[in-house]
Amino acid sequence: MRHLILVLGDQLSFSSPAFDGFDAAVDMVLMIEAPGESTAVWSHKARIALFLSAMRHFAKDVAARGWPIEYVQLNATSEPSLGARLGDALRRNHPQALRLVEAGEWRMQQEIAAVCEHEGIALQVCDDAHFMCSNREFEQWAHGKRELRMEFFYRMMRRNFNVLMEGSEPIGGQWNYDVDNRSAYPKRTGPGAIPEPAGFEPDTITREVFELVEEHFPEHPGLLKHFRWPVIREQALEALHRFIDQRLVHFGTFQDAMWTDTPVGWHSLLSAALNLHLLDPREVIAAAEESYRKGQVPLEAAEGFIRQILGWREFIRGVYWLDMPGMKQANHFGHLRTLPSWFWTGKTNMSCLRDSLKQTLSLGYAHHIQRLMVIGNFSTLAELSPQQVSDWFLAIYVDAIEWVELPNTVGMALHACGSRFTSKPYVSSGAYIHRQSNYCAGCCYDPTLRTGENACPFTTLFWNFIEQHETNLAANPRTALMAKNLHKLSATERLGIAQRAAHLLENLDSL
Ligand SMILES: Cc1cc2nc3c(=O)[nH]c(=O)nc-3n(C[C@H](O)[C@H](O)[C@H](O)COP(=O)(O)OP(=O)(O)OC[C@H]3O[C@@H](n4cnc5c(N)ncnc54)[C@H](O)[C@@H]3O)c2cc1C
Ligand code: SF4
Repeated sequence: MRHLILVLGDQLSFSSPAFDGFDAAVDMVLMIEAPGESTAVWSHKARIALFLSAMRHFAKDVAARGWPIEYVQLNATSEPSLGARLGDALRRNHPQALRLVEAGEWRMQQEIAAVCEHEGIALQVCDDAHFMCSNREFEQWAHGKRELRMEFFYRMMRRNFNVLMEGSEPIGGQWNYDVDNRSAYPKRTGPGAIPEPAGFEPDTITREVFELVEEHFPEHPGLLKHFRWPVIREQALEALHRFIDQRLVHFGTFQDAMWTDTPVGWHSLLSAALNLHLLDPREVIAAAEESYRKGQVPLEAAEGFIRQILGWREFIRGVYWLDMPGMKQANHFGHLRTLPSWFWTGKTNMSCLRDSLKQTLSLGYAHHIQRLMVIGNFSTLAELSPQQVSDWFLAIYVDAIEWVELPNTVGMALHACGSRFTSKPYVSSGAYIHRQSNYCAGCCYDPTLRTGENACPFTTLFWNFIEQHETNLAANPRTALMAKNLHKLSATERLGIAQRAAHLLENLDSL
């Protein structure tokens, strides 16, 4: 055998460079289901099912091309780890080399390299051409910069790929329409009718996977009954086109809006399909740009959506590989508190967190502003350990793969990497959540109160956070106002906040 081509669960594309020059006479594809990958963190059942189902569908397509494939099923051996299963496969097949594209996780890349070394098999790691900026190019861009900012990276990417450009200038004269993209749903009428995203009835393969998941991971969090995720490329394309045709138009306007029992809003639900490589980011960006150029959606919508993919998604990946393995231990504020147990049940009195967590447990999905400004915001204010919070985010979302989850959680949401790639901590009081949602109307707490039994925990802990970090916040132009506002409070009120915050922090489990 010449090449044994390892296809990991998040590399399900026939455009993968690992297949370049594939010769069925001398090469073979290898795919491995490893139970250890589902238990490394306590994975949501839908996350496990999505990976297994998409992998099994892809393997079927590989076989349909007449390509030799060895597929190691979950229950094939008692050995749980991917590394051990890979070692077995290498000994069985004795290839001249193991080939794969870069893994989506630093630990897995190390594990694969160690197994190859141990077995004396050459390892060929190809650049992951799914991404528009290679790790090498990102390193070059970041070289010499102590602090990295997405906005400048995004402008470079817009120019390099000629996206929403008019010559050398951005269409419309502005790079960024973020200020137009912060509306809440009307408080009186709510979100109104939002077109349903595409959803896909589980087929035989997916239903078999459900049984396997219930058998092997019965205690894991989450439900499978709402599973409608795309598991093959054709479905992912249908989901993309449905989004572009029906929902992109208001994506920008309501990007930061939240509402009870409105789990998706105008968001695309495409992250999982993108992260499994069922969709190529170039085609997603092209579809959004085309929709704008045909006059079907406003520029703010197309730009806002494209920025998430061409900007944030590529930037986040670059930062991950640049800063690993150190990022895994990042803890700028030295926060060490334990994750409250209700993160796994949604049983909290705080209505914003209850809604965001309950939908997460039932769907494996929450949109960005719920992840950032509800769950992430609370985690920072409650001084939770970034590593525990990050493990939870990695476990619970269907789109979670470490390269994208870790920098978003520890870097963006928890500011645990300091100002390395975000200019300020994303923290707010209950006032922000009140403005952007209807959550507070159904809550036993009051977002306007800083002290007392009914004070919103976000509000109390926010002012406590400012008190704790006053000097640093005052020194940063983007947060100086927060520190200044602290001095408008009386000494008695500041003391009251400190006392109430201490009580809350000692009793996080009962909030
Ligand atoms: C604490 C935290 C953890 C997160 N963990 C993940 C994760 O594990 N996996 C993941 O894919 N995204 C993660 N994100 C980013 C973002 O929240 C999700 O990509 C998004 O909510 C997915 O829903 P959607 O497809 O409807 O996205 P939309 O809001 O419709 O956005 C369109 C696409 O842009 C991309 N995108 C948007 N924001 C980001 C971002 N910050 N980083 C990278 N890509 C982005 C996604 O591919 C997404 O599908 C996280 C964000 C936070 C704050
Ligand atoms: S009052 Fe506070 S805890 Fe309750 S929903 Fe509003 S922000 Fe959340």
